[in-house]
Amino acid sequence: MKPTFFRVRDDHNYSQRRFPWGHAVYGTLDAEIPQRACSACGRGFRTRYAGRLSVCTEYGREWSDVIGTSGNTVGFLISERVLSGLRDAGIDSFEYFEVEIAEVRSQRLRVLPQPRYYYISPTGRIDIDPVRTEFKLRVLGTCGECARLLFESIPPELSPDRWIPDRWIPKLDTWDGSHLLQFGNISGSDVLCTERVLLLAREHRWTNFRFQPVDISRRDSIRWRGIDYLGKKWPPDWYPAPASQGKNAAEWATQLRSRDPELHWAAIEALQELREEAIPALVPLLDADDERLRLDSARLLLYYEVEQIEVAESILDRCRAVVAPLSQAK
Ligand SMILES: [Zn+2]
Repeated sequence: MKPTFFRVRDDHNYSQRRFPWGHAVYGTLDAEIPQRACSACGRGFRTRYAGRLSVCTEYGREWSDVIGTSGNTVGFLISERVLSGLRDAGIDSFEYFEVEIAEVRSQRLRVLPQPRYYYISPTGRIDIDPVRTEFKLRVLGTCGECARLLFESIPPELSPDRWIPDRWIPKLDTWDGSHLLQFGNISGSDVLCTERVLLLAREHRWTNFRFQPVDISRRDSIRWRGIDYLGKKWPPDWYPAPASQGKNAAEWATQLRSRDPELHWAAIEALQELREEAIPALVPLLDADDERLRLDSARLLLYYEVEQIEVAESILDRCRAVVAPLSQAK
C-alpha cells in the first residue's frame, strides 16, 4: 500500500562518497525564542538555528541537492535548486536559512561551481497516533501548554533508547495539510513530507535524497536505502522486501558461516527478523567450533530476549556464557 507520509533525509553513504558530507556544523541557536522550555511540563523545545550557520564538508565528487550533516538539529541542507523547486510548487510550510560552506575538503569539489545551500525548519504538523504507535512507556496524556505527549518516566531498567517505538504511526486527522512537516506532539527533528515532495524530487532529478515511509520499522529503516525515487520503475516499491525473503531459518543460519561480509550481514539481518522461527536453527550453533558463529548465535538469541521473544532460561544462560569472556576482556 502506498504510504501517505515519508521521512526525508540525505542518502549519505560512506562506501560510495559520491556526494559531500557536512562533518561539522557551527552556528548560533535562535536567540529570538526567549523561552527554552515549556512552562507547564518543563520540557525543552526543539532548538533551531538562525542567522549564520556554517558547515564544513568532506568527501564528494559532485555537489548534491541534499548534503547530510552530523548536526542533530540540522539534519541536512538543501540546494538552491530544491528550495526554488519547492517554492515554485507552492510549498512554503518551512523556514529557511542560508548556510555558509566554510570548508571543502574534497579537492574535486573545490574546483566545481558550488550551489548555495539552505537549512530548513518545517512548520507543518501532524501528530503521532498515541494509540496505534506502540510506545513502550505509558502515555499519561497531553501537555495543555505545548500539546506534546506526556509519558511515565523511563524505568531504570530500560536503557534510554528502549522506549522508542518500533514504528511511528501518524494520526491522519491531525494533519494540517502541509507538504513539509514535523511531528507536533513529540520532540524530535525528523523532517516529513508528502508524496508531492517525493514526486518533485523525481521530476527535477534532485540527487542524494532518501525517502522512507514514516511508518517503516526501525530495523528496516536502518538497513534499507529508501524508495528508488529516481528509478525507471514506477510506482516504486514503497517498502523494502523482508530481510529474510528467499531462504528459511536453517538456510540463513548456514549463511552465518560465510566469510563474505555482505552475505554474513544479510544473514544477521534475516535472522534478527525471523525471531522465534530462528531459535531452533541458532541453538546448535552455541556449540560450534567457530568462535564467531558461537558469538553470533548467542547475540541473536539474547537480542530476541530483549525484544520480548520467549527464549528458554537454560538457553539464555548458555548464551551469556558464550558472550561473558568477551566482556571480561574489555
Ligand atoms: Zn508542555
